[in-house]
Amino acid sequence: MEIFKPLDLTKEDQNTDIENIEKVRCLILGSGPAGYTAAIYAARANLKPVLYTGLEMGGQLTTTTEVDNYPGYPDGVTGPEMMEEFKKQAERFGADIRIGIATAADLSGKKHRITIDGNKIIEADTVIISTGATAKYLGLEAETRYAGMGVSACATCDGFFYKGKDVAVVGGGDTAAEEATYLAGLCRKVYMIVRRNVLRASKVMQDRVLKTPNIEILWEHQAVDLFGDNGVEGAILVKKKGTPQEEQVKIKIDGFFLAIGHAPNSDIFKEYIETDQVGYIKTIPGTSKTNVKGVFAAGDVQDPHYRQAVTAAGSGCIAAIDAERFLAEL
Ligand code: FAD
Ligand code: NAP
Repeated sequence: MEIFKPLDLTKEDQNTDIENIEKVRCLILGSGPAGYTAAIYAARANLKPVLYTGLEMGGQLTTTTEVDNYPGYPDGVTGPEMMEEFKKQAERFGADIRIGIATAADLSGKKHRITIDGNKIIEADTVIISTGATAKYLGLEAETRYAGMGVSACATCDGFFYKGKDVAVVGGGDTAAEEATYLAGLCRKVYMIVRRNVLRASKVMQDRVLKTPNIEILWEHQAVDLFGDNGVEGAILVKKKGTPQEEQVKIKIDGFFLAIGHAPNSDIFKEYIETDQVGYIKTIPGTSKTNVKGVFAAGDVQDPHYRQAVTAAGSGCIAAIDAERFLAEL
């Protein structure tokens, strides 16, 4: 009688239905300004790039309204519109843009294996990681309790539901300033919960906030909890935490918006790719090269300093040129 044994899968073979391995010269992960720009350059260089969009097609800019600082749009443009134009331009040169998420990476060999949606393997000569960054939360239990019931990390997406109501935005950077200003146009009152006594936001964004009458900045406040029976009805804050003047403050709000920055989407590469402590991928200065040959990084996932659409696009261009030269040298 034949005894059936479980298959002895080596790491390389795991999840690999041989039929389901596709070989490509240049694989681009992410569809923000970095990924689409890399796709434009790689397609024009005849690398026949395949780009997987990830969950957020178009990237972070699809969560914003006006983009005023991207060169070439003298009257501004909305984030979603601009990203649609990036996509069309990449497609015009033949980039193969597909919906899918990279769920695992094996960068141990000469060919790089990326698993898409847990079931398809792409074997690529070069990989451009342009997976950007994701919104951060404070880590309060209440954020999970009220997820979709008053807690949001995207004012542009959810602000409409709070028309005429009172809301709070946590953070003091450009995103918080922009979200607060946007919400002020819809809501009765917007509190900005700022942990220090200064805003990190650029001068122009600060001016916009300070000139908006229905935004109130709560300086040196930190949110510690939320309350409400059927959704958020208010927040509990601590003012001047850790000082002799520390006091608890309650505000009545219907919506609680997080705008405290983003974390780089680099987790699945960390076994092979060097990152800094926060998770930003390290590249050789002036290039997009990572510590793994043939793997390049572009955009916010490798940029703790600038994190702008135009810098992301610029680094996408660098990554495609680096990939092209790497392939030419092979
Ligand atoms: P992202 O735009 O973050 O895109 C990342 C892409 O990677 C997404 O498509 C995502 O789906 C994909 N992805 C993630 N994980 C995976 C995976 N595992 N597999 C495949 N794909 C994956 N900058 C400006 O210059 N001007 C502005 O006015 C401006 N406004 C902003 C407003 C807001 C609300 C925010 C949040 C940011 C703003 N920024 C602005 C910053 C700007 O959006 C970013 O710097 C820029 O989008 C970064 O581009 P990126 O291509 O690196 O990544
Ligand atoms: P950011 O610049 O990192 O600012 C994050 C803000 O959240 C800071 O004020 C920070 O406080 C606060 N914060 C962080 N963790 C916190 C916590 N646990 N509790 C309370 N507050 C906390 O992030 P961002 O505003 O998302 O901007 C990211 C990048 O995108 C920037 O380079 C920005 O210029 C760019 N951007 C540009 C535009 C534009 O040009 N129109 C719009 C949006 C974003 P501290 O200041 O105390 O650290």
